[in-house]
Amino acid sequence: MSIPAASRLASYSAPNAEFEIASYPLRPLAAGEALVRVSMSTICRSDIHSYEGHRPSPCPALPGHEIVGAIAALGEGLTHDMRGEPLKPGDRVTWSEYFIPADDYFSEVLDMPQKARGVEKYGHMAATTPPHHHGGFAEYCYILPKSWILRLPDDLSDAEAAPLNCGVATMVAVTEAADIRLGSTVVIQGLGLLGLYGAALAKSRGARFVVGLDAHPGRRELAGRFGVDLALDAATETAELQAAIAAHCLPAGPDAVIEVCGAPEAVAVGLDLVRTGGTFILAGMVSPGAMITVDANKIVRKMLSIRGVHNYHPRHLIEALDFAVANRLRFPFSELVDARYPLEQATRAMRDAASRRVLRAAIVP
Ligand SMILES: [Zn+2]
Repeated sequence: MSIPAASRLASYSAPNAEFEIASYPLRPLAAGEALVRVSMSTICRSDIHSYEGHRPSPCPALPGHEIVGAIAALGEGLTHDMRGEPLKPGDRVTWSEYFIPADDYFSEVLDMPQKARGVEKYGHMAATTPPHHHGGFAEYCYILPKSWILRLPDDLSDAEAAPLNCGVATMVAVTEAADIRLGSTVVIQGLGLLGLYGAALAKSRGARFVVGLDAHPGRRELAGRFGVDLALDAATETAELQAAIAAHCLPAGPDAVIEVCGAPEAVAVGLDLVRTGGTFILAGMVSPGAMITVDANKIVRKMLSIRGVHNYHPRHLIEALDFAVANRLRFPFSELVDARYPLEQATRAMRDAASRRVLRAAIVP
């Protein structure tokens, strides 16, 4: 495959504005880069936060970081994926949602590449910033140096593959931090894509019982197919929730609580639910301003481990792929992507996703 002279993308000039289709040139590949023909880009809640102006996003903004595509061309020196599989044009790939500009204390010494200084994310840059094509709402996307690439097996569909590099890899990191093991009991606050994958991951790690909390009845209904044993309305009084789950989480409550609902008021509930000595992982509150008031005495007396998890280490991307491949017949992952839109309908796709009319909207350029 050769590189076309230009390619189309969908960007917006200000928060909540209509998307516009624009054409930008494609340049030759630099060393270590790849160019991908995008086949699907799913809309993540963080894309919606940016679109609605809840966090800064340079405009004209080109969203989309949960991207799948086929390699159109490979730059010099890029011959294998992150675990040594040879790469060639035509191969379908996923890659880390972020890339880092250079070696840095956080990546090299602390082993947290997602926190490297100067880290950049696909779908978070202005379309006017070269090489222009660095987001999923586009026909082509460059994979820039210091990204982590994985070749996809043929039998994994685009819908199963697209969320791997954000939602699924993040939930691998979250369920690892939650220390879920054989026989664990787990409560998950929020049954969107993150919560449903989190339940499936918890089960595959050996959890005995998984409780899901969500205010949306449709999501609670779907949850049973992703490993949630008991789905309850998140709006229920805490004492009632405790009574409902007590018999399933003997002797003293769930070993782990995972927050992926993004609602600050869920923190106080989670602190009450988790057992003494248990683990509480916060991962859903990704926009500034998530202020909370809690009784810190509970954290001390219950000897809780509380941790925030943001994005993931590249090894979690490998684990996400292997988990999806191994469990695609056990859990209906492909059904989570429940609406597809061409580039020209990017505005509708974003608004349907924002209003939760669909679970995971996909742009198919
Ligand atoms: Zn995301």
